[in-house]
Amino acid sequence: MELACLDLEGVLIPEIWIAFAEKTGIEELKATTRDIPDYDVLMKQRLRILDEHGYGLPAIQEVIGELDPIPGAKEFLDWLRTKYQVVILSDTFYEFAMPLMAKLGFPALLCHKLEVNEEGRITNYLLRQRDPKRQSVRAFQLLNYRVVAAGDSYNDTTMLKQAEAGILFKSPQNVIDEFPQFPAVHEYEELKEEFIKASTVHS
Ligand SMILES: [Mg+2]
Repeated sequence: MELACLDLEGVLIPEIWIAFAEKTGIEELKATTRDIPDYDVLMKQRLRILDEHGYGLPAIQEVIGELDPIPGAKEFLDWLRTKYQVVILSDTFYEFAMPLMAKLGFPALLCHKLEVNEEGRITNYLLRQRDPKRQSVRAFQLLNYRVVAAGDSYNDTTMLKQAEAGILFKSPQNVIDEFPQFPAVHEYEELKEEFIKASTVHS
């Protein structure tokens, strides 16, 4: 039995925080873990900035609802789902991802969760577990699935290593250089080929 695990942001949809910052013009929201390595500090800063600009969850979801998946993403995903059972493993939050998941046909998604009060104000965030992408792959392997995983960034590399086969997709050059053991491709057609190559069932 084979399972495909896909990262979401940068692979099927744009980076949500960057896209949100661009749509709203809130430049400070473009900070990533590259600027602030401590994720907790970064997230608290993001939530504070949203609050200061008066963005509660409904307003955020409205902005995210105007974003689109990366061109070709839906077609790729539809194709992949004919070959593999597919699970999306993401470090985003359900509340942010859902407007875009609708445009991808609601594939299975494992990610994190926000705490939101009655007025729609985001009060906190809940991470599902530590190293969630790798732990998810491990869990699927315990269920006797052989896993092929694809992602674009550092937060995907433990998942790629844990999987029976890992693929870098649309990765920046520094990630490609640092992880030469994984094939690196940039177009969905090439990604399809890699998923076929990595399969023991499909050819
Ligand atoms: Mg990503």
